[in-house]
Amino acid sequence: MSKPEKIVAVKGMNDILPQDAPMWELFENTAETILKSYGYQKIVTPIVEDTSLFARAIGAVTDIVEKEMYSFEDSMNGDKLTLRPEGTAGAVRAVIEHNLVYEGPKRLWYKGPMFRHERPQRGRYRQFFQIGAEAVGFSGPDIDAELIMLCRRLWDDLGLQNVRLELNSIGNADERLRHRADLIAYLEQHEDILDAEAKRRLHSNPLRILDTKNPAMQEMVNAAPKLLDYLGEESQAHLDGLKKILDRNAVQYTVNPRLVRGLDYYNRTVFEWVTDALGSQGTICAGGRYDPLIEQFGGKPTPAVGFAMGIERIIELMKGLGETQAPSQCDVYMVHQGEAAQAQAFIMAERLRDAGLDVVLHCATPAGSGSFKSQMKKADGSGAAFAVIIGEDEMANDQAAVKAMRGDAGEQQQANVPFDGLVDYVVDQIIGGGEHDCDDENCNEHGHHRH
Ligand code: ATP
Ligand code: MG
Repeated sequence: MSKPEKIVAVKGMNDILPQDAPMWELFENTAETILKSYGYQKIVTPIVEDTSLFARAIGAVTDIVEKEMYSFEDSMNGDKLTLRPEGTAGAVRAVIEHNLVYEGPKRLWYKGPMFRHERPQRGRYRQFFQIGAEAVGFSGPDIDAELIMLCRRLWDDLGLQNVRLELNSIGNADERLRHRADLIAYLEQHEDILDAEAKRRLHSNPLRILDTKNPAMQEMVNAAPKLLDYLGEESQAHLDGLKKILDRNAVQYTVNPRLVRGLDYYNRTVFEWVTDALGSQGTICAGGRYDPLIEQFGGKPTPAVGFAMGIERIIELMKGLGETQAPSQCDVYMVHQGEAAQAQAFIMAERLRDAGLDVVLHCATPAGSGSFKSQMKKADGSGAAFAVIIGEDEMANDQAAVKAMRGDAGEQQQANVPFDGLVDYVVDQIIGGGEHDCDDENCNEHGHHRH
């Protein structure tokens, strides 16, 4: 028989391997704790939605709808469906469908995979994860400031430095329309400098040309008419209000008049958290106001603002902070030999888990059930604080051998402990400090070991 061909992951779609999982968990736990501390509630929406939802929400002439969506026809019934490219459209659909703002404004957050058919490169994937927040039913600049400060707290808690905030207002539809006419006229005067992409966008989405990364166009777009100069009184007051709150709370930012969003539904506040540490994919969080969207979807006019973070990019930043110690797989590794000892090991492992400990029980592999020596090697590799050893001798004496695995060989004491007292002994040892010398009663490090 010839060797079957290997199946590999879809291009641009990544596995998150066990060695990276603790970093992801740390990020997600930190973000979720902070979101909760600001009163945000979790919402989970399907990964697949009707294609028309995104076409309408995101706008027909955006990158996403023009060329990045994974759309397909359900072969069972002909429904036109799309893998969600972002989270706001689904969240807003759910808010309207379930009348979530009936009783008042809502602070929501979500996380999960998003899908865009882009050219895979560092920081840009075809499946990527976002965590995002949507504040629905709030109109003032106060909530915009809150969202921004929530992000700042997250960077602080994660220890991320060199993340800076860029801010802009893109006004309302009328203001953009007045600016657009002048912008198109300006761009037409410089048609010789426009690249193919910009030429294509000239009449469909000229604002996005300002966002270009093409170095040859930088000088030209820098001098283009600025939307900021076209803001009416209310939009200006909104922006000023936001800046005032940020200033009072010592949030640093730069106003970037060329900052726009790739999606059509935004108005007024737009912001990005950017770093130089990730090459050209340096935006780790992007947000803004989308007051018109809910009405566009057939809901009652409801202002809203939100942000989305690209988790892969943040994880890469976290990795750059330095070597993190490989976390241990368990507190206790159970080593056993012989049928009776195995039966006893199963019982003791369950009791230790009842007491809140993480326990890995040695199990057979194709190479066999393993000598004591090879099992001890596994115990060592697991990072366990203790190995609990049960063999024929131990069975005969109704006791287990408990070996401390941390510290120098000289410190690795071994004790014989009756089965009846094993759980208390191990719990005592672990809380008592051997593996964690912290006197602080409130230390959470081993919170789950306290009873
Ligand atoms: P860009 O201009 O870089 O394409 P975008 O406007 O498409 O960005 P958003 O739709 O605002 O990005 O998404 C919010 C955040 O999600 C981005 O700032 C980024 O951190 C992350 N993100 C977006 N697309 C990808 C992707 N293909 N792979 C990984 N992360 C992504
Ligand atoms: Mg994009």
